[in-house]
Amino acid sequence: MLAHESSYPSSFRDACSVALPTGRILTSAIHAGLVGTMDELFWTADRGMERERILGMLKASAKRVLRMSGPVLVRRSPGRAVVLCYHSIHPSNSFRSATPTLFDEHLAWITQNCNVVPFGGILPAAERPSRRPTVSITFDDGHEDNHRFALPSLKHHGLSATFFLAIGLMEKNPDVVDRFKRLRRSDYDAIRPMEWGQVRELIDEGMDIGAHSYSHRNFVRLERSELRYELVAAKQVIEDRLSRQVTSFAYPFGKPRIHFTDEAAEMVRGAGYRLAAVTVKRGVRISDPPLRVPRMFVTHDSVEELREKVLGYWDAVGILQEHSPLWLSRLVSPMDFAY
Ligand SMILES: [Zn+2]
Repeated sequence: MLAHESSYPSSFRDACSVALPTGRILTSAIHAGLVGTMDELFWTADRGMERERILGMLKASAKRVLRMSGPVLVRRSPGRAVVLCYHSIHPSNSFRSATPTLFDEHLAWITQNCNVVPFGGILPAAERPSRRPTVSITFDDGHEDNHRFALPSLKHHGLSATFFLAIGLMEKNPDVVDRFKRLRRSDYDAIRPMEWGQVRELIDEGMDIGAHSYSHRNFVRLERSELRYELVAAKQVIEDRLSRQVTSFAYPFGKPRIHFTDEAAEMVRGAGYRLAAVTVKRGVRISDPPLRVPRMFVTHDSVEELREKVLGYWDAVGILQEHSPLWLSRLVSPMDFAY
């Protein structure tokens, strides 16, 4: 039995009702966040703390407030639907989303508490009232460890997932391989892609495949012709290699305005994709356009952290991310602008 299980609400609606009424939770959230911030600032003020640490603490406190406000916001759609985004599943990779053991624990929790659909089924799930949240499990980039560690665990739990492949990496294009080594600050072994035969095995086991561009560049920095190549070449190579049509896409890095524009989304549609995943830390709403389906990164989260993401505790962070002016996003998350 998982450690948190005794306190876990029996349904998603119960989880919401714990948090209501709205006024009380917002008041207590703001109080807790501010008190926490003041405490930490006073504690460190006489230690000559530098600006970055103050900013870090303010961010942590703001997150505390937003975390507690999240459950109030999740009732906007009839069904709670969440897309999770994993990258590497590996015992020791520095950029892993989870170890194989932790990933298996995630899947055990998901199996017990959620409905699971492929990425293509997540928008309809947001429209359907349901006592259990619906989760779509996705992977980005196409690392070999997805086949070695994630696939057996998915099979064990009888779950399917969607794998978005960075095609230049899959094809071992030297420039793209170097880009991944730089991005992940890792050697080739850590970023090694699946072979196409392994991707076919995924498909045979009921997994779904999508495209994740050709060379995994920030779309806002590309000319239209370069962007078109990223979209068209990725689709063409996958379809040639796998003899099947691909209509799902995941934007590299994925944050709206920072990593792609409205114009890029239109080009995604023009290239023949019907559904595309962005990176926004909130659940899916029925009002989300098919070419902007939000996904939450999983970053070595404990089962409790995963549960909070699925139930909506972090949705307020995503909503703030979406509506922040770019100067504020740059201040809060400078790394997002580094690619
Ligand atoms: Zn990626």
